[in-house]
Amino acid sequence: MEIHIKGLTRDYYSEGKRIRALDNVDLEIPANRIFTLLGPSGCGKTTLLRCIVGLESPDAGEIAIGGEIVWSKEKGIFVPPEKRGLGMVFQTYAIWPHMNVFNNVAFPLQSRNISKDEIRKSVAKALSFVQLDGFEKRPATKLSGGQQQRVALARALVAEPKVILFDEPLSNLDAKLREETRKELRSFLTKLQITAVYVTHDRIEALALSDLIAVMRSGGIVEVGDPKKIYFNSDDRFVADFIGRANLIKGKVSVLEGSHAVIDTGIGPIIGLNSHDIPVGTEAMLCVRPEFINLAATDEAGKRNTFLGKMETLIFIGEAYEGEIRIGDTLLTTTIPPTVNIVEGDDIYISFDSDHCFLLGV
Ligand code: ATP
Repeated sequence: MEIHIKGLTRDYYSEGKRIRALDNVDLEIPANRIFTLLGPSGCGKTTLLRCIVGLESPDAGEIAIGGEIVWSKEKGIFVPPEKRGLGMVFQTYAIWPHMNVFNNVAFPLQSRNISKDEIRKSVAKALSFVQLDGFEKRPATKLSGGQQQRVALARALVAEPKVILFDEPLSNLDAKLREETRKELRSFLTKLQITAVYVTHDRIEALALSDLIAVMRSGGIVEVGDPKKIYFNSDDRFVADFIGRANLIKGKVSVLEGSHAVIDTGIGPIIGLNSHDIPVGTEAMLCVRPEFINLAATDEAGKRNTFLGKMETLIFIGEAYEGEIRIGDTLLTTTIPPTVNIVEGDDIYISFDSDHCFLLGV
């Protein structure tokens, strides 16, 4: 089910000061997709999620789930959380340690007028979905972190919600388990064909898991797009920088060439994608991700987008080198294959692929 959010504003007050946690947010969350709210700490992700759930009352705006208005300040509508048809998975899983797996998963059904037999069937279905068949009697404390996360998911699913919401559900897992669990979660959610709203400040998690990402900053939505669009060709400098490591090189647009443009920078003219139609004469930035700075052979010297630099620092991190290349006053961060024979201080030619660097407004 889709979610429509219009003009949502939420203020908090602390020590006599107003904190605008959400600032007139408009957002369309499409049905049956994994939709992630991504942004730095304090940007308003959790507040937005809690407003959708009904745990927060916004100061202005409207929220509709599947066409039904569940909150409207103007129309005086407030549908309580338990009537919104939502499932929720929290950061701490909120698994009750004194209960076994069955009782944890059955919990949302206990207060409803449902027969014991139906509850048993629903719990078995939810546990089977998360591949924990047969774990009913296991005490919640005798589960691994990943299994606890799956119990939390089963509990969120047991009442067959229309929408499932996640607030940083993987942040308590160690790095390796987090990677496995997010893969598993994506596969579960894709199979379920359910609307999922997922909050994280972890860009890799957002890229790996989402169909769509909304990047937030200071209580507002800056950009919404699929992971590749946001990573390869973002509309916004803050987003480009937040979603991955980025070299941002300042300059002025000098020539337009179809979908591309030349930008005159401190290291020379560079041609890149100009999806935002930045006109000639405008100050702009060229965004190049470290993995798209290619090493070039000496005989490519003088070619377009090719420059001579000096390898200033080089750090071996196993799967690659992370390096910094200096060209005049500009220091570029690069990722270099570990097989390349290079040391700090070497002169090195690099080139930018014009389809994998893009212009942004300043
Ligand atoms: P994080 O990733 O750190 O959880 P977030 O993006 O989820 O951050 P929110 O928790 O939504 O951010 O907070 C948004 C802003 O509102 C922050 O400035 C926060 O300090 C403030 N805030 C949140 N809850 C309250 C509260 N109960 N009282 C006062 N200020 C609050």
